[in-house]
Amino acid sequence: MQSGFSRRAEHPVTQVVEHVMAVIADDAASLLTGEQAPQLAPCEADPCQRFFVRTHARRQWCSTRCGDRVRAARAYTRKRSLHNAQTV
Ligand SMILES: [Zn+2]
Repeated sequence: MQSGFSRRAEHPVTQVVEHVMAVIADDAASLLTGEQAPQLAPCEADPCQRFFVRTHARRQWCSTRCGDRVRAARAYTRKRSLHNAQTV
């Protein structure tokens, strides 16, 4: 039994937020314990910290945006090293 002042979450917005958080937690628990759990993989694009469900074996990135960023960085590095090799 509580004594003194107490605070209860009764505001409708708070109830909605708590419901949404519970749904997200339930989805996360289902994903982490379900059939797709072994397919979970971290995105290989630095500094992205997302995880994704590896839908095919060679997939490395969580989104095309991360993939494009890695490919662009690779191309820039390649172009730069080529340029440096020519000027030396
Ligand atoms: Zn990513």
